[in-house]
Amino acid sequence: MKKLILIALLFAQASFAQRTVIYCGKLIDIKQMQVQTEMSIIIEGNKITDVQKGYVAASANDKVIDLKNRTVMPGLIDCHVHMDHETNPDRTLRFSQNEADIAFGSIQYAKITLMTGFTTVRDVGGSVNIAIRNAINKGLIVGPRIFTSGKALSSTGGHGDATNGLREDLMHIPELNSDVVNGVDECRKAVRQRYKDGADLIKIASTGGVLSLEKDGAGAQFTEEEIRTIVLTAKDYGMKVAAHAHGAEGIKRAVRAGVASIEHGTYVDDEAIELMKKMGTYHVPTIIAGKSVADSAKNKPGYFPEIIAAKAIAVGSVIQDAFARTYKAGVKIAFGTDAGVYAHGKNWMEFVYMNEAGMPAIECIKAATVSAADLLGNTSIGSIEKGKLADVVAVDGDPIKDIKVMGNVKFVMKAGTVYKNE
Ligand SMILES: [Zn+2]
Repeated sequence: MKKLILIALLFAQASFAQRTVIYCGKLIDIKQMQVQTEMSIIIEGNKITDVQKGYVAASANDKVIDLKNRTVMPGLIDCHVHMDHETNPDRTLRFSQNEADIAFGSIQYAKITLMTGFTTVRDVGGSVNIAIRNAINKGLIVGPRIFTSGKALSSTGGHGDATNGLREDLMHIPELNSDVVNGVDECRKAVRQRYKDGADLIKIASTGGVLSLEKDGAGAQFTEEEIRTIVLTAKDYGMKVAAHAHGAEGIKRAVRAGVASIEHGTYVDDEAIELMKKMGTYHVPTIIAGKSVADSAKNKPGYFPEIIAAKAIAVGSVIQDAFARTYKAGVKIAFGTDAGVYAHGKNWMEFVYMNEAGMPAIECIKAATVSAADLLGNTSIGSIEKGKLADVVAVDGDPIKDIKVMGNVKFVMKAGTVYKNE
């Protein structure tokens, strides 16, 4: 009898649970690839329970959010960020900051990312990103939902080798070498360690990079066998692999080995494009990062050491063109910006650069919602549909007519909680 009363009480409570009703003047429907007018989104708890045509009647108990003058869309997803740092010409920071300093510094980056409409990010490398993710999930700090690789993996002397350019004795300090692996055994072990650390995915550098103290920003790093080992081991633990790659050879090795995405893809050639299409590999373009580093190298003398400045100009200047080629050839595109390499909060500018390179606005938004969720392998985010998590953002103006309004985010809801409503 007691049990029955309890069940009855639970039902009563469920039926009186407060609903949130959002009235949307315009709603970007990514699945149908069209803009709906005068729509209502019904939310209970952290989930969307219905989406209806027209402004549905709300009951006295409902919380109503009026976005009749705004354009509403799913919460945005950035597939390439570094939540625990931001570009800074001071190269002594890595020797003066403790991990706690880095973590406290990241609080503002996480907050501005969410407040500019990015309700989810994929963090692809940093020292305290797993802890940042956990702090956000626990509600200790405000930020986007994070999926992170933990520390990225690199070969000796490669893009992620933190001891590049250091004095010989410093080069062998084990703590500075925790990102470095060589040979299949070390690769396998490192993936298992990342799993144990609590990573959600694996990030590798399959070519040189721009911002590391190494000569070649595009040459292949890691053998195909090493990358395949990383991919297969990651699969055992339900993780996908993201490959930082600028040069064509390193892109092709990574794609053939089965990575889920190529980050940057600067010197992608026709053969690599065909391989990516065949394997279903995503391209995560990061145009804004390329433009930003090229601009700093050209216009701010001394911002980068000479070895980096030359690469920044060469690589940064052509990254938008690489995106134009992969997009036009039909490669799958997921939105990603490399936030941290430029100032956090400007992620939206990537939409402008993608649009400028020939991608229609609604497809740019698809890349940052449905496609990004697909790359993450997460079916609970990316669209405004019954059963999905209530991640909803709204902008002033119509991004389909003028993509620049993506910088005017006025409303942010993550998992049913409103973080911004101006
Ligand atoms: Zn990056």
